[in-house]
Amino acid sequence: MKRILILGGGTGGTIVANRLRRELDGEWNITVIDRSPGHHYQPGYLFIPFSSSSPEKIVKDRASFFSAGIDYVEKVVSRLECANNKVIFEDGEEMEYTWLVVASGTRIRPDLTPGMKDGELWGKDVFDFYTKEGATALRERLSALEEGKLVVHVTDMPIKCPVAPLEFTLLAEDMLRKRRIRHKVDVTYVTPLDAPFTKPIASRELSSLLEERSIFVETDFATESIDNENHEVVSYDGRRIPFDVLVTVPLHTGQAFIEDSDIGDEMHFVPVDKYTLRSTEWDNVFGIGDATNLPTSKAGAVVHFSAPVVVENLLAAIDGRELPEKFDGHANCFIESGRGEALLLDFNYDQEPLTGHFPTPAGPMTLLGRSKINHMGKLAFEQIYWRVLLPGHDMPIPDKMSMWGKKEEN
Ligand SMILES: Cc1cc2nc3c(=O)[nH]c(=O)nc-3n(C[C@H](O)[C@H](O)[C@H](O)COP(=O)(O)OP(=O)(O)OC[C@H]3O[C@@H](n4cnc5c(N)ncnc54)[C@H](O)[C@@H]3O)c2cc1C
Repeated sequence: MKRILILGGGTGGTIVANRLRRELDGEWNITVIDRSPGHHYQPGYLFIPFSSSSPEKIVKDRASFFSAGIDYVEKVVSRLECANNKVIFEDGEEMEYTWLVVASGTRIRPDLTPGMKDGELWGKDVFDFYTKEGATALRERLSALEEGKLVVHVTDMPIKCPVAPLEFTLLAEDMLRKRRIRHKVDVTYVTPLDAPFTKPIASRELSSLLEERSIFVETDFATESIDNENHEVVSYDGRRIPFDVLVTVPLHTGQAFIEDSDIGDEMHFVPVDKYTLRSTEWDNVFGIGDATNLPTSKAGAVVHFSAPVVVENLLAAIDGRELPEKFDGHANCFIESGRGEALLLDFNYDQEPLTGHFPTPAGPMTLLGRSKINHMGKLAFEQIYWRVLLPGHDMPIPDKMSMWGKKEEN
């Protein structure tokens, strides 16, 4: 039997499976493997600490998102043998494939920073919001915060949705203002980068917004450890940042099974050609999303825009044709800025985020500027995710980045 095996039934695995099923006849078996029954809408984690979303609302039954004719198997992958076209599961069973798509995402590693997960403050004064459990526990602690120092901290890059910690910072500032205790709480954003964001024009706009909201920014901070005794984050160059509540984005790596497989780099991400998304090591393997080493943001938007490329190129590879599609690195992210507003970024491998309007010169969204419509776009996105993207339908905006509406700077 000819089988396309998709490892991971999250954002990328689900979209690719549904799109492929429409293109291939019954001669092809399409199987998706995932380890858990709940599909999480991860952007929703951001809102849980502020009680504007709930842990129950962002999780839906994974199996219900696969079209008829897709086999969904719930198992934990423990190893890949690409040399033998084989996947080995935790229970010892094995499955062979003709073509493989790795869509297993990334995992957060608070265990890799001394004093973080193994410290006594973890879950008491030190939290993540990149898991449902972390975001839920943080909700309780934030609502009990009356005064002191709130520190939002990025341990190192790469991380999923690099703007999410900035959004968290701005929403937290807004929550403190609404609770009328802003003057009693210092808010600090700590980043390993030399600016709030990786790209210069976006950083300029975001820096002025943080300054306007009196949020302190600590840059170039290479985290060594968390000092639990003194409630401080410590850097390799000896800086110490005191906190009452620390909201951290821990280190990210690829999944554990990649480490034990004949695919994957030193951080357990899967090397792929950044244009074709085919594995650089194995011709019958493609990768999508956070699991790969793509030099663009680890973001759902990147997954949506690249899924048609993976599908078209995989179909061509099956037919022995040249790979026709090239991914341009397109990413598009809303940044919640509090006060019922958001900013929007749109960029790709070659073009940094610019100011202007999206998707047309008349908007309705504003690039790198705050607006209520952007905020409404961010909120509407959840329903678009479940109803349009996961089933593999096309969006009314092009997958490739367009310069239409963007304002070029000299
Ligand atoms: C707080 C937060 C906010 C975010 N906000 C945004 C946003 O506003 N915009 C945006 O574009 N993106 C956002 N993202 C990022 C976005 O959610 C991810 O980039 C996207 O979901 C990645 O899709 P993926 O298919 O690569 O991985 P995932 O959707 O994570 O899927 C990976 C799947 O693989 C499965 N898996 C892993 N290991 C195994 C194994 N050993 N065996 C079996 N199954 C396995 C997992 O269970 C999972 O279902 C945010 C993320 C977070 C955490």
